[in-house]
Amino acid sequence: MKNNIQVQTRDIAAIWEQQPLIISGPCSAETEEQVIKGAQDLAATGRVNIFRAGIWKPRTKPGMFEGVGAAGLPWLQKAKELTGLPIAIEVATSKQVALALAHDVDVLWIGARTTVNPFSVQEIADALRGVNVPVMIKNPINADIELWSGAMERISRANISKIGLIHRGFSSYGNTQYRNAPMWHLAIDMKLRYPDALMINDPSHICGRRDTLQAVMQKAADLDYDGLMIESHIDPDKAWSDAAQQITAARLKEILAEIQWRKEDANSASYRTALETIRQKINQLDDELLQLLSQRMQLAEEIAQYKKENNITILQSGRWSEVLENAIKTGAKKGLSKDFITRYFDAIHIESINHQKKIMDSRD
Ligand code: PEP
Ligand code: MN
Repeated sequence: MKNNIQVQTRDIAAIWEQQPLIISGPCSAETEEQVIKGAQDLAATGRVNIFRAGIWKPRTKPGMFEGVGAAGLPWLQKAKELTGLPIAIEVATSKQVALALAHDVDVLWIGARTTVNPFSVQEIADALRGVNVPVMIKNPINADIELWSGAMERISRANISKIGLIHRGFSSYGNTQYRNAPMWHLAIDMKLRYPDALMINDPSHICGRRDTLQAVMQKAADLDYDGLMIESHIDPDKAWSDAAQQITAARLKEILAEIQWRKEDANSASYRTALETIRQKINQLDDELLQLLSQRMQLAEEIAQYKKENNITILQSGRWSEVLENAIKTGAKKGLSKDFITRYFDAIHIESINHQKKIMDSRD
């Protein structure tokens, strides 16, 4: 078994060097025909380097399609035989690793729901000891870069030399235009920590829909990513999982033709990623400031309710001078001018009074 792997590892080594590395295929292997036609359509684009398909699918709720399981592995072998495309699947247990290797799978990836669990990642790492197959590690579903980094270290300690990091976005609470918020700065931080690993963007799981894929792919190209993993399907609307985000091979070819991969020197690339990291952090802080301001106004409304019940006026000037004085003192220690603090707190005060007034004026 290991001898076979050695032969394939040599082949995959050359492919691993190709940039940008384009990985595509269905979210799930469904039928033999769907796998084979899917791989043939992708091979015909001339743009795809690796064929992916999910065999075991970790689903959020029970009772959904959980993948065809090991029965799909011979379909992938056949697809490889017919197209020459190396194959990649997701593994979550040592048993799945053994089955994948026994069926000549060329690249393994660890899914977002597995990266969060150090026991599972260690189990996979132990199963990989002595087999130098390329492994890609998706970011964990929660925005914890240390978990991602821990998984990376567990796999590299198993002497895996070809490691890819797949950025598929993070679960976030609340409405956003994304299925999984990209939080680009986290992926950029990982790229800076592990410059030898490939950084691959997965726009499909970030977007969760087709119409925004291209913009996310272009952004990844602008940020000097090494490759893309995009879900594709012979008949996307009829896919058994993730139907809304899959595209046909023909559409993939069109989008890829439009993506601009900048060729630039290392200096300007690192300047751009550094700038983008800082911008993303600023966006994150601005979001948090707005969340906090909104929470602050909710508290003001709660207070207004008490004032109303006890017939107290909104404006308590003694209390406000105290808040402002404290803020000026704290601001000075943190390098914020008195003038700025005064204007900022005046604006907060006015907004707070308006919120309180709304409660006072309401009839109940
Ligand atoms: C997938 O690639 O189909 C998948 C299950 O992705 P993730 O682990 O990113 O949710
Ligand atoms: Mn999927």
